[in-house]
Amino acid sequence: MKKTAVVTGGAGFLGSHLCDKLINEGMRIFCIDNLLTGSIQNISHLFGEKDFTFYKYDVTNYIHIPGNVDYILHFASPASPADYMHYPIQTLKVGSLGTHKALGLAKEKKAVFLLASTSEIYGDPIIHPQPETYWGNVNPTGPRGVYDEAKRFAEALVMAYHRSHGINTKIARIFNTYGTRMRLDDGRALPTFIAQALRNDDVTVYGDGSQTRSFCYVDDMIDGIYRLLLSDENEPINFGNPEELTIKQLAEKIVAFTNSKSKIIFKELPVDDPKIRQPDIKKASKKLNWFPYVALDLGLEKTIGYFQKITDSI
Ligand code: UDP
Repeated sequence: MKKTAVVTGGAGFLGSHLCDKLINEGMRIFCIDNLLTGSIQNISHLFGEKDFTFYKYDVTNYIHIPGNVDYILHFASPASPADYMHYPIQTLKVGSLGTHKALGLAKEKKAVFLLASTSEIYGDPIIHPQPETYWGNVNPTGPRGVYDEAKRFAEALVMAYHRSHGINTKIARIFNTYGTRMRLDDGRALPTFIAQALRNDDVTVYGDGSQTRSFCYVDDMIDGIYRLLLSDENEPINFGNPEELTIKQLAEKIVAFTNSKSKIIFKELPVDDPKIRQPDIKKASKKLNWFPYVALDLGLEKTIGYFQKITDSI
């Protein structure tokens, strides 16, 4: 008997890579997405698969899926700062009402539930690197609060369903991830810099570029999430690549790797932009035997190649 998985946000960047992974692992997939920030192009290659079904649907409403469901992976949400600040209410609704509906489905189907959580729950961190035991430093009423607090609420709801209803739940705290199928215009630093560099436009670093991030290649991230899904772990787990660099260094790397004539220019730093971020991944290593393998230089090469192809075809 094939296992059945529901992936909300399945037409998004990570959701679509997850659908690929689960199909390759021999599962039947119900992919749900309202296409607010996801895209049909990300999943069109799966439309010929008999085990793949797509529903264009908003998961803040009651979710009906026929038959057995073994796994529910809740990945629906705008995820780039530009997107969630553009869709603040939808972001709050999908993190709260959407998580509630997806958990309701898990309870009904007695399915394993996995929440796509985020490093944003740590806010602008005072502890560095960030272990799972850190409670975070979030401004609830700032512009990023719509995403951060929705995900914090989602985590609380997941743990309540686990404790009260005995559902086998998992929480993946996903740090900055990059790779194929990111939108060129999603506003995040990495795709924005690549798009700007390929066009020889100015590369827009916010602030003085001394803020740090740690970027994980998508294949490593999907591997970690899949390991968590099959594990017996119910507490939150960080996933990310601890290779940390400043945003200015990232911009310089991308300009060099693309042989671009772009100049780096500096713009105002967005409100509440975290100054430092690096995952502590000891827990994932110990509990899931998971490590990210793709170094930033290699992942950037692959991602730049992908974006080059897309921009050539526009
Ligand atoms: N950033 C930047 N230029 C851009 C977009 C983002 O300098 O065109 C900065 C942003 O202010 C942040 C970092 O790059 O400090 C990473 O931003 P991103 O939007 O990728 O995601 P975040 O890690 O903040 O969620």
